Amino acid sequence: MKVDVLGTEYEIIELTETDKLEFATKCLIGQCNLRTKQILLNKSEFERLLEGDGEPAIKLYKAETIRHELLHVIFHETGHSKYADDEKLVDCLAVLFPKILKIFHHANAI
Ligand SMILES: [Zn+2]
Repeated sequence: MKVDVLGTEYEIIELTETDKLEFATKCLIGQCNLRTKQILLNKSEFERLLEGDGEPAIKLYKAETIRHELLHVIFHETGHSKYADDEKLVDCLAVLFPKILKIFHHANAI
């Protein structure tokens, strides 16, 4: 899937266990590569971590991971590299974003 991030195209790629990339063996869940303009998702690691929780849990966790990686990219693309490198800030916003969006909608602030 390709995503336009403020005029720059990024590709979201789901890796599987068969991918022979170092990424797949590091047990990372997601990673953004600002040079290649790719967001990599480790599908097998999602499934391993959430084994038994079912597809809805995997879907939610995957969406949160995509938000996390996109926030890194958005901060980078807008020249806020300091924020892009702040894992706590990025993760907090990725988790809270659906709630923030709901509040903004209710407040007609969007
Ligand atoms: Zn991160």
